[in-house]
Amino acid sequence: MSNTEKINLLNLNRAGLEGFFVDLGEKPFRAKQLMQWVHQRGVTDFAQMTDMSKELRKKLSQKACIAFPIISSTQQSKDGTRKWLLSVDGTENAIECVLIPEKSRTTLCISSQVGCTLNCSFCSTGKQGFNRNLTTAEIIAQLHLVHHGLLREGRKQGVTNVVMMGMGEPLLNFDAVMAAVDMMCDDYGYALSKRRVTISTAGVVPAIKKLNQVTDVSLAVSLHAPNDALREQLVPLNRKYPIRELFDACRVYIDGRKNRKITFEYVMLKGVNDSLAHARELAKLIGSIPCKLNLIPFNPYPYAIYQCSDTTTIDRFRETVSSKGIITVTRRARGEDIDAACGQLVGQFKDRSRRSQKYQIELEQIGKISHAC
Ligand code: SAH
Repeated sequence: MSNTEKINLLNLNRAGLEGFFVDLGEKPFRAKQLMQWVHQRGVTDFAQMTDMSKELRKKLSQKACIAFPIISSTQQSKDGTRKWLLSVDGTENAIECVLIPEKSRTTLCISSQVGCTLNCSFCSTGKQGFNRNLTTAEIIAQLHLVHHGLLREGRKQGVTNVVMMGMGEPLLNFDAVMAAVDMMCDDYGYALSKRRVTISTAGVVPAIKKLNQVTDVSLAVSLHAPNDALREQLVPLNRKYPIRELFDACRVYIDGRKNRKITFEYVMLKGVNDSLAHARELAKLIGSIPCKLNLIPFNPYPYAIYQCSDTTTIDRFRETVSSKGIITVTRRARGEDIDAACGQLVGQFKDRSRRSQKYQIELEQIGKISHAC
């Protein structure tokens, strides 16, 4: 049997693995053993799983595999940020994940899709179009490769926090993302507390409601504008799910979860959403929900139509919102020299949505690039 016909066990959370072992005629507790080997010890060779009988190990190698995307390249920024480019379909498609080491934590920013369908006007991933959803295996593999890579380098601690803020919209790949989140938080997996796993969404309202039923992870919402008229220009999804509906869903998510806050993200775009009037309108809007606000200085990329707001404008914006009692921080750009900052993750893939082509034509029309490009 080739690897493509075998079951990739990275696709299965604990419940899935229990079902797999029962189908093999084994006891469900084998799932915990397998998870400890794979996710906690980083052992992926069945032959080394010595608390399972030789016969079972043989059966596993016949029916199953533990298959990873291939690391095509790694880069390290001068600020310590590291980026991995992972091939997911032979050489055709690649995705990126980014590690952000800080004093008190080590955060991994994970991708959920090859490209993105949402086309937010300031995000370079969106400009590349969309190819497909990632599988659970491809999502959890990002954590496995980086976490165990760090431990093999001799570091005491691997990844401590995960943010689903890489390429793609995690809530549009709901089931695969949730199965991967299960493994991140499982005591036999990476045992991360749900507070340390953040799902970031542009505002897929029905999926936020569904998320509320099935998990307790931290929720970040990419808001970027204090009113519908402006948000529609920046986040086209707002036409489908306007701010009022989004906020109703956020309120339900936060209700009954003690000491939890929604994180609102707000990209600072010069002359677009960064005036003091915007800051006041924003404070009034988000002040009605337990929340904190992250201001993200816009990260440029080739042919971007926006510029980042000036530092003094960002400072004044932050002070205006904080003066209304809302915790507001300006996120420091990390890994800019290796294009690893928010919205700069593009991977390499075949666009099936034709959006990259349309974008090329738009740029030609506004004279940003010539045909030669
Ligand atoms: N689709 C999800 C997660 C991916 S984007 C979401 O929208 O939340 C992760 C964050 O980076 C989002 O807040 C996104 O709006 C922001 N972002 C995208 N492009 C950016 C850019 N060029 N500069 C700064 N932040 C950007």
